[in-house]
Amino acid sequence: MTSTEDYLAGVLAGDRRWTARAITLVESTRPDHRELAQRLLVELTPHAGKARRVGISGVPGAGKSTIIESLGTYLTERDHRVAVLAVDPSSRRSGGSILGDKTRMARLSADPRAFIRPSPTAGTLGGVARATREAMVIVEAAGYDVVLVETVGVGQSETAVADMVDTFLLLTLARTGDQLQGIKKGVLELADVIAVNKADGEHEMAARRAARELSGALRLLRSHTPVLTCSGLTGTGLGELWAQIVRHQEETDLAARRRRQQVEWTWSLARDRLLARLEERAAPITEEVERQVLDGTLTPSLAADRLLAAFAGNASPEGNE
Ligand code: GDP
Repeated sequence: MTSTEDYLAGVLAGDRRWTARAITLVESTRPDHRELAQRLLVELTPHAGKARRVGISGVPGAGKSTIIESLGTYLTERDHRVAVLAVDPSSRRSGGSILGDKTRMARLSADPRAFIRPSPTAGTLGGVARATREAMVIVEAAGYDVVLVETVGVGQSETAVADMVDTFLLLTLARTGDQLQGIKKGVLELADVIAVNKADGEHEMAARRAARELSGALRLLRSHTPVLTCSGLTGTGLGELWAQIVRHQEETDLAARRRRQQVEWTWSLARDRLLARLEERAAPITEEVERQVLDGTLTPSLAADRLLAAFAGNASPEGNE
């Protein structure tokens, strides 16, 4: 079996194959892999943490992969090493994950200064987020100084990504009517920088107007989130976009933000593990309880009590197995 030292040496040397293998290791849920992965992460952590971590979100079609391709190339041309990760818990069901299709970022995929990794398909959001966080440690230790984390604009995955990056970028499009209505309120609160994308050709004026309106609306909400325009297709505005991301990081106490994220993450792990144990210990009665709720002989509240009783009844006194 491959040892921690093999992975460690390979990743620290910046070797792509070892970096990819180490990520495969942290994505695995097999207990022996988990143990090896944790040992590796402990060794790698002192070498990680030096990258700019940027989350990129937006509804499907907003232009995320196009902007990652062009912004990524803009950065590698300026001597950065760019890693692209993704959080897409739906990739299991849809069969094809975001970033899974290499043709989406053909140029960046072939760029020796870039490293692209599709979303893990670990299933639950918690599992996918864990694997992506650990992959971030690996790519940082491998020397990538910019980490872009793409997320689909649905569900809780945006919060999960905002909780692991220094700057959360929301890509949006010019729409007619109320700009704010097109964007989910919760996502607006997560955004550190907003870019109205596809500001090119005939859309350019509309994009500029949309950015002005959005910026004005945000000021009314006492938000100072910068709004700018860009085009992933032509590259217009990418320099300003990157400058804005860097500015945000310079104006933020990043060390404090990352420490808070660690605390949040601890709770998130605790909740996930608690839930996993509940499901495991309640498994023998789950089918029966669900059937009774389905046919109306048990109320959901009493059913929940029974699941929890099964959990508590089987718990060892120390609370661990
Ligand atoms: P994603 O689903 O958010 O990753 O969006 P894609 O990057 O796949 O882009 C969706 C569609 O919009 C594709 O047909 C792109 O060619 C187009 N597109 C992406 N960025 C731009 C842009 O900056 N300008 C224009 N005009 N079209 C764009």
